[in-house]
Amino acid sequence: MTENNASQWDTLDEKLWAPRKRTGLRKALAPVEGFGVTFSTLFRKPTTEEYPEKPVPPAPRYHGRHQLNRYDDGLERCVGCELCAWACPSDAIFVEAGANTPDAQYSPGERFGKVYQINYLRCIFCGFCIQACPTRALTMTTNFEVAGPTRSSMIYEKKDLLAPLKEGTLAAPHPMVEGMTDDDYYNGKITGPTQEQVDWVKEHRPDEPTLATVKVQQEAARA
Ligand code: SF4
Ligand code: SF4
Repeated sequence: MTENNASQWDTLDEKLWAPRKRTGLRKALAPVEGFGVTFSTLFRKPTTEEYPEKPVPPAPRYHGRHQLNRYDDGLERCVGCELCAWACPSDAIFVEAGANTPDAQYSPGERFGKVYQINYLRCIFCGFCIQACPTRALTMTTNFEVAGPTRSSMIYEKKDLLAPLKEGTLAAPHPMVEGMTDDDYYNGKITGPTQEQVDWVKEHRPDEPTLATVKVQQEAARA
């Protein structure tokens, strides 16, 4: 302890830290005072949670496992900008961008998240990454069951983090909605796949499973 610190402690008022002095009846009852808490708790409703048999849902804004979201036509929201990785204080995110091409368009715009990893041994669930994401590609779910037996199983890959495809949507890659720009995507103008997108996938990936369930929900925007 430095001399400065010692003199600071010397000047503290003893009443702030000294134990309370008990006298008379309070002193006599002190040994059984603690049982008062036990006794009053006996009549309260138990709050025991029977996890994992009956998991209690966390608060709606709980910060749990991450999710990479998609647009309503099936294109991915992530544009591989790496802002989430730069915002992360524990260096838990790794992103490698890839270039969209006319034959393989995964997201609106020029780039998409080709490699996306979150290391849950490092993540502290602070939520800085989801605040940094410019396209709302990255959000956090209320799933708190993030555990695994090995180090590698705690590094979640893009396939583990991608949101499931909504009913009636078409898995990427496929072109953007005709006549729409990436700004239109960011501004929420996409309501579902177009017939042109469905035809493109039929031609390039006739075995695509989502072709069986896709529903055309949007007209192409004509200039
Ligand atoms: S929640 Fe926090 S620690 Fe976890 S990946 Fe996001 S920024 Fe990093
Ligand atoms: S999740 Fe968001 S911030 Fe992270 S790389 Fe993708 S678009 Fe950028």
